[in-house]
Amino acid sequence: VANRTPLIAGNWKMNLDHLQAVAFVQKLHWTLKDAKHEDGSVEVAVFPPFTDIRSVQTLIDADKIPFALGAQDLSAHDSGAYTGEVSGAFLAKLDAKYVIIGHSERREYHSESDEVVASKVKAALKHGLVPVICVGETLAQREESGPTAVSIAQLETALGAVSASDDIVVAYEPVWAIGTGQVASPEQAQEVCSALRAVIAAKLGDEAAARTRILYGGSVKSANIASFMREPDVDGALVGGASLVVDEFAAIIRFEK
Ligand code: PEP
Repeated sequence: VANRTPLIAGNWKMNLDHLQAVAFVQKLHWTLKDAKHEDGSVEVAVFPPFTDIRSVQTLIDADKIPFALGAQDLSAHDSGAYTGEVSGAFLAKLDAKYVIIGHSERREYHSESDEVVASKVKAALKHGLVPVICVGETLAQREESGPTAVSIAQLETALGAVSASDDIVVAYEPVWAIGTGQVASPEQAQEVCSALRAVIAAKLGDEAAARTRILYGGSVKSANIASFMREPDVDGALVGGASLVVDEFAAIIRFEK
């Protein structure tokens, strides 16, 4: 059995301004004092809006808070005439470790295709960021082509520019479970996560497949996190709504299998 450190990732979406973000991270850190993330057995990452990253980075650095920092998106380009875009180079300079790519809200509201997602994955890796590649089907797609086909196709394209030694994270987020309270069953999550691990094995080899963390996302809460973490191919969670409530997010981080 591979030894993968669980990753609990909080996607704040467009919530918390930089002052609220600093207060939140301080409170979360104090709530978690002596919790297992302090000894490295669980990795915690927060994904604030771009405008918060500098403030959160300064706090994490000054108080030696053991949370990793990530962004919710990045540009496929390095710099130049791309109004409103943020480069991976800038994020790396702020000590961002991760960047979410291809979240269903980006795919839906900003028309991000699988090819755009692949180009952003390439940009993230170029700048030393770990892409958190999001895949997942809508309910209509699940009914039409089954539980795994859409996620497999999305991941295959996203891995186009990834090589075996690159560090990546994959997040299976069924669109019908995001922000709906309609959570997937642990068995449904396991079925797709194991299919995604097989895609990684086929494209990047067994070692990469054994090392890569695959997260479940979609209405994760403290009451259901343990059931997902018991599944062999689920290595953590990407948490939206519940990552905005200190006690709830802390309880998710403290999950017991
Ligand atoms: C998400 O947006 O990544 C997510 C999983 O949201 P929620 O936990 O609110 O369903």
